[in-house]
Amino acid sequence: MPFYMCVRHRGFVLREWCARLPPKIEDRPGHPNHTLFLMRNVTGKFFGVFGCKICMLPSNGFVYGCSICEYYVDVHCAFLPKEITHEAHPDHLLSRIDASSSLSETPCNACGYYLINCIAFYCPSCDFYLDIECAFLLPGMISHKYDDHPLNLRYDPAENHPSDYFCEICEDEFNPESWFYHCSFCVQSMHTACAPLILQCEQVVYTRYKRCIFYFANVKFGGTCLIKDHQHRLTFTQGIKCHGRCNHCGEELQYRMIFNCLECKYAVHRRLVTPTALVTGQDAAKFLHMPTIEIPSRIMKKRILSKQIKKKKHIYNALP
Ligand SMILES: [Zn+2]
Ligand SMILES: [Zn+2]
Ligand SMILES: [Zn+2]
Ligand SMILES: [Zn+2]
Ligand SMILES: [Zn+2]
Ligand SMILES: [Zn+2]
Ligand SMILES: [Zn+2]
Ligand SMILES: [Zn+2]
Repeated sequence: MPFYMCVRHRGFVLREWCARLPPKIEDRPGHPNHTLFLMRNVTGKFFGVFGCKICMLPSNGFVYGCSICEYYVDVHCAFLPKEITHEAHPDHLLSRIDASSSLSETPCNACGYYLINCIAFYCPSCDFYLDIECAFLLPGMISHKYDDHPLNLRYDPAENHPSDYFCEICEDEFNPESWFYHCSFCVQSMHTACAPLILQCEQVVYTRYKRCIFYFANVKFGGTCLIKDHQHRLTFTQGIKCHGRCNHCGEELQYRMIFNCLECKYAVHRRLVTPTALVTGQDAAKFLHMPTIEIPSRIMKKRILSKQIKKKKHIYNALP
């Protein structure tokens, strides 16, 4: 999978690789009949945030889209290879398949959840399935405040494990045939989805929110705006527990995209801040700073080898 890196300096300068992304792509899985065009962001989406139609994750980076159908995908999903090899299943190639209809009751071998995205990867000989998140977005190693050592992503049960497996975070027992993070010194384990990556201070629970660990992997936070309802500048950020509840709707802000004030305790859900809420008038432009878009320097580079992408490397300048 290619990981593109881009920095948008106050607007319009694209780094070289960005200029080399193809301006349009044809015949893409998930939307084969229309051409998808490269866009800097989706028109009309505040702070550029859209939901990728393939991985379903929010993103505000570069996008390939069909504006007729309002079909948008992030640059990672735009170039999902036809075949991958994955460290978790080293002997066979995994092929990209359309999972939208026939596989809705098939679980992903890594996380145990049903395949809900329209694309998955599978090995026909072993009946082995991976959803996109597990195939590409889980880091091989994480650190966690509950353990002094790094925890490694395991694809199999640990040898000589003394007992059943329990997640240190949510305390549920789990099946070690699914992937999990593990410290072999302390014999501690946790669900992949219970392991907080995005914000180290957060504690996130599997049963509540499967996608927590990578949910905001494609969202660039930062950037500020000034709205009519509040006198201070607001920053676009990921809600954590200490942000408390939304000043507009009263619901919790944890795990959501929010705008918060650094000078007082004011914070609101992102969806409540729209262009019409912004301060208008002569100086309006001065009060709106969009986040600088870089593709996250994550994640799977070493563990996924795509033959297809390797071949194309010289064209798209994908990072190794
Ligand atoms: Zn995507
Ligand atoms: Zn279309
Ligand atoms: Zn999975
Ligand atoms: Zn296989
Ligand atoms: Zn857990
Ligand atoms: Zn440890
Ligand atoms: Zn709210
Ligand atoms: Zn304030």
